[in-house]
Amino acid sequence: MNVYQKLGKNRLNKDYSDKWKDYKWQLHSSIRDINTFERLTGIKFPEQERADLEKTIEKFPISITPYYASLIDASDYKTDPIFKQAFPDVRELEITECDMHDPLAEDKDTPVEGITHRYPDRVLFAVTNVCSMYCRHCTRKRKTSDTDYMFSREKIDKAIQYIKNTRTVRDVLISGGDPLMLPDEILDFILSEIKKIPHVEIIRIGTRMPAVLPYRITDNLVNVLKKYAPLWINTHFNHPREITRTAEEALAKLAEAGVPLGNQSVLLAGVNDCPRIMKKLVHRLVQNRVRPYYMYQCDLSEGLAHFRTPVGKGIEILENMIGHTSGLAVPRYVIDAPEGGGKIPVMPYYIISWSTNKVVLRNFEGMISVYKEPDSYRQYFCGRDCQHCDLQLRLEPADEYNPQGIVKLLSDVDKTVSLVPSGTQRIQRRNGKASRVQRKKNE
Ligand SMILES: *Cc1c(COP(=O)(O)O)cnc(C)c1O
Repeated sequence: MNVYQKLGKNRLNKDYSDKWKDYKWQLHSSIRDINTFERLTGIKFPEQERADLEKTIEKFPISITPYYASLIDASDYKTDPIFKQAFPDVRELEITECDMHDPLAEDKDTPVEGITHRYPDRVLFAVTNVCSMYCRHCTRKRKTSDTDYMFSREKIDKAIQYIKNTRTVRDVLISGGDPLMLPDEILDFILSEIKKIPHVEIIRIGTRMPAVLPYRITDNLVNVLKKYAPLWINTHFNHPREITRTAEEALAKLAEAGVPLGNQSVLLAGVNDCPRIMKKLVHRLVQNRVRPYYMYQCDLSEGLAHFRTPVGKGIEILENMIGHTSGLAVPRYVIDAPEGGGKIPVMPYYIISWSTNKVVLRNFEGMISVYKEPDSYRQYFCGRDCQHCDLQLRLEPADEYNPQGIVKLLSDVDKTVSLVPSGTQRIQRRNGKASRVQRKKNE
């Protein structure tokens, strides 16, 4: 038992130990001001820092579950990864030149409230904007001060209607806020409505509860989730210290209910920007049947500058993992590009050189090898006539008729030879010239 639990025990009545595991009690007792935090942890902030902290939480509120706060090592809190993720830092008010209000342009890719439709076949469905713990590194920090507890029935219905009407959506990612803030019955209702839509093949839930409030994973919740297989859960652990016995129990419950588990972590300066810490984290995750899915470069949202690392740090971490440890444990490192560019994978270079029939590669040890490409590969024109293809899988031609992005350039059916950003000066110059030539011809 750590300092906080001891202090908490003295403060609370004798029902304390029963209540500790009650997630509703945890939510009610979330720490929402600095006084309470100081009183419970015994940490005291200097006068001036306190005043600055008060200013910080006016803009970006604080909320920490007693469970998560209890993981803080109060005797060494300044370098504590739990403390840094949960407790405000006065540097959050420093807005740097590259900070953006909505860096992922989520508000622009929103056809109806609650839905972000960025990729061709899947949508992000935000069902609430609250969380049990407000991560200081949240990319949607701008929304944490909105007080809206839960989205109204009408909003939810409209979003579901959008998914119903959009037949290309085969994957719905329920997010927020934290979707597990919703009561089981409401979650059950939303999941059942989505499940009814014939073109939706899988549902995913993104939640931080296993890390910040593992008691939320109750038997009742698990029984609800079980009904909607294939339902995947992605959680969010950033440091091995977050994987406590209690968190492990919550993860086991989900895994035993047949819910495949993934983890999305964020690369955070001072928290996990270290190959050894990250390796330990991914090992602990796979031990608990959680597949490390993404490692995010920290976004350009306002107030996150002190958490950002150079991209090289992420590459260095991957270099320390790929080949050195189970491939299963290596997450994909992504940068969620500004302006709605979406997640872009970033990797160390492994292809060193290339000729028309040879690829030169290096492995994790620095060994250089050549892979000889086949001399007799039959190149054939792919007209996307899948019904008459020699390959055995007879696919419906469906989306292949409508190639998008780089695939458009690789396709044999589409005649596009370049993807040109519109509105650059060069393109404007060209257009101007084209219209002058046109005018001359007409004269
Ligand atoms: C991350 C994200 C998804 C899901 O992306 P995957 O790479 O399929 O996990 C979908 N929509 C939006 C807007 C996202 O940000």
